[in-house]
Amino acid sequence: MNHSTEKTDLRNLSALELRDFITFFGKERYRSIQILRWLYQKGVHSINDMTNLSKMFRQELDKVGFISTLDLLHVEQAEDGTKKFLFQLKDGNRIESVLIPDKSRLTLCVSTQVGCAFGCRFCLTGKMGWKRDLTISEIVNQILAARESLKERASITNIVLMGMGEPLANYSNTLHAIELMTNPDALKFSSRRVTLSTVGLLPELERLSKEKISFRLAISLNAANEETRSHLMPINRRYPLGKLLQVCRHFPLRPRTRITFEYVLVDGINDSPQDAKKLLKILRGIPSKINLIPVNEAPGIPFKRPSEKKVREFQEILMKGNLTAIVRASKGADISAACGQLQGKSL
Ligand code: SAH
Ligand code: SF4
Repeated sequence: MNHSTEKTDLRNLSALELRDFITFFGKERYRSIQILRWLYQKGVHSINDMTNLSKMFRQELDKVGFISTLDLLHVEQAEDGTKKFLFQLKDGNRIESVLIPDKSRLTLCVSTQVGCAFGCRFCLTGKMGWKRDLTISEIVNQILAARESLKERASITNIVLMGMGEPLANYSNTLHAIELMTNPDALKFSSRRVTLSTVGLLPELERLSKEKISFRLAISLNAANEETRSHLMPINRRYPLGKLLQVCRHFPLRPRTRITFEYVLVDGINDSPQDAKKLLKILRGIPSKINLIPVNEAPGIPFKRPSEKKVREFQEILMKGNLTAIVRASKGADISAACGQLQGKSL
């Protein structure tokens, strides 16, 4: 008989909740640190493997708790080395994560929701609509599962929350998952190596600005004026660019950190020299850098990517205006693993 549905998923607890869970059983607090290390650093699959806990405690814990994992359905590898993982969740929903090698970095792009409610017109995840939020464990287990697939000595160096979904629409689970990513007893990523990307939900950004955040912030800007942004991203009608920039301007950044603005370049829509100049103007005064992403084309997406020449010209205008602008070639397009192509389906 399987009791796991009534048991507590230890990977679905924040570090604080785990501490309370352990002390509730009359155990010393430091035990929860040992358990965190087993869960996230050693990545054990069974409570019985936590060998620095007494046999008796392991048995007790096993009666009330379990360690969840994700079912890996499929891995695909692109020509450039990018790997896409398709996971099946317990309720049958599917999500994807993408592992992207780049020089000395190995970045994992993780999902925070099944689908997405915001319907940006260039994004296939948006076309799916929103199905549900991921739990804390479904977010962190993507990292553990991807790590298990690596050959010895390789390790994931960076995490980007840029997969399926809008992280700030799943605020609490996403923030608890990030806490586990950066907790020195859990996944211990440096806060400089975890990036959350948002479409720009103003109430959540306001809330975030009042918390001590331990990650890099990226904002999907995608246009330099209200009309174009509303055309590409319907959410701009509710949370307009002008207000978004105001929040960014006052966002309490740690010293020497900048906000990354993502700008998907779409042929004939937002890629003119005037757009680049306007962009310089609206970002003035905000510590920022900009990632230019030529749109990934896909069936059902009514946009084309600009010519390479146009992309370079756009970048040059920004650089001449003293804005750091990097052109991001999305990787893994041949296996539909590039930005905006995740739909939770195998080919
Ligand atoms: N929902 C969040 C995070 C996931 S999307 C957000 O929108 O920020 C991550 C990035 O992929 C966003 O910057 C988005 O603008 C970009 N993106 C979406 N569809 C794309 C496409 N077809 N081509 C290139 N980039 C795309
Ligand atoms: Fe959602 Fe981000 Fe895609 Fe927009 S770009 S539809 S916010 S996942």
